[in-house]
Amino acid sequence: MTTVRQSTLACVAITAALQFGCERAAEPTAAPAPATITLDTHIDIPLDYATAAVDPLTADLQVNLTKMAAGGLDAGFFIVFVGQTARTDDGYAQAQADALKKFEAIHRMAEQLYQDRIEIAYRAADVPRIPASGKLVAAIGVENGFSLGRDLEFLERHYTLGARYVGLVHDGDNDLARSARPRPQLGDPAEPDTGVSALGAEAIARMNRLGIMVDVSHGSKQTALDAMRLSGAPIIASHSSVASVNAHPRNMDDETLLAVKADGGVVQIVAFDAYLKNQPEEKAAALRTLRESVGLTAGSPRSLPPDRRALYDEGLREIEARWPAATVADLVDHIDYAVKLIGIDHVGLASDFDGGGGVTGWTDASETANVTAELEARGYSREDIAKIWSGNLLRVWSEVERTAAELATAQR
Ligand SMILES: [Zn+2]
Repeated sequence: MTTVRQSTLACVAITAALQFGCERAAEPTAAPAPATITLDTHIDIPLDYATAAVDPLTADLQVNLTKMAAGGLDAGFFIVFVGQTARTDDGYAQAQADALKKFEAIHRMAEQLYQDRIEIAYRAADVPRIPASGKLVAAIGVENGFSLGRDLEFLERHYTLGARYVGLVHDGDNDLARSARPRPQLGDPAEPDTGVSALGAEAIARMNRLGIMVDVSHGSKQTALDAMRLSGAPIIASHSSVASVNAHPRNMDDETLLAVKADGGVVQIVAFDAYLKNQPEEKAAALRTLRESVGLTAGSPRSLPPDRRALYDEGLREIEARWPAATVADLVDHIDYAVKLIGIDHVGLASDFDGGGGVTGWTDASETANVTAELEARGYSREDIAKIWSGNLLRVWSEVERTAAELATAQR
């Protein structure tokens, strides 16, 4: 690459004032340049995270602090997820208790166990600031507004505990919104798609006032469209992919993607096998049977004792050999489509690691540089890659902060 080399050499003689521009013309490397902050917007954690059983530094998870550092993953949204259960007093109480446990675990990681290695970001501007001090970044996202119960006061508590995005809904409808995957066994009707409820609309207004990003991933199509209409600030889809590339209920169709562009929001394309690639129902059935055969009812296979984990891994290898998993190339196919349809400013990245995510080539945080390499191979510029990895999400986060500040001023 003579031209690149020449321009790099030429830079040496150029004044310091021009040096920034020259650095950007330098040859690309496998790892992102320091100016590119790699941010993964969806990393799940188990309920016993940051205890003696699950050490955030070394735990056998797809994301631990050692793997983040090795793979050049600077920042992640660690997720306070609760599964949807019956909307009863017991169900709400359990969801709130589980959510608090996860908030506490993230704070324990960053404030007691590894305060020298990772720091919590409370504002968009913290995300580039913290890596400059040599630390990793933990932001906090909530997955499933079910943990709010029917009491939106809990939203303020989520904010105080560090939540900077809240996913309205998960698999199964809740009091805020309809799900992309309703659960008939919980009494969810198949039709009509009524989108965001009156309580959900109130929750969105409060999120706007607090400075919490509204996340529409897992929401039905109408939920996503309603959220964009109702929110006074741009929304995010923290982990979703593209329905035109692979028709899956968790993916977004073109109309919704175009609405995200008009909204000024961002879709974080997710490295989730079944969303990226059309896998036959037999694969899902084989995976369910495998989980049952090792007694895994919920959670990650990484929680299994060694003997059953070995059985699981062997079964998984056989399933993957028969129906190969999606790859980093499949992931970037979804990014390519989204970028062509709605532009480079509205597309980002998420793994869903430790929540079912991971594809061949990006099986855990230590392989993060492979994603950057694939984007480079497809011709994305440094600037484009920086937008995809974090720039777009941080722009939305900043706009959400600005909206909250404006609403606070208007109220005075
Ligand atoms: Zn999810």
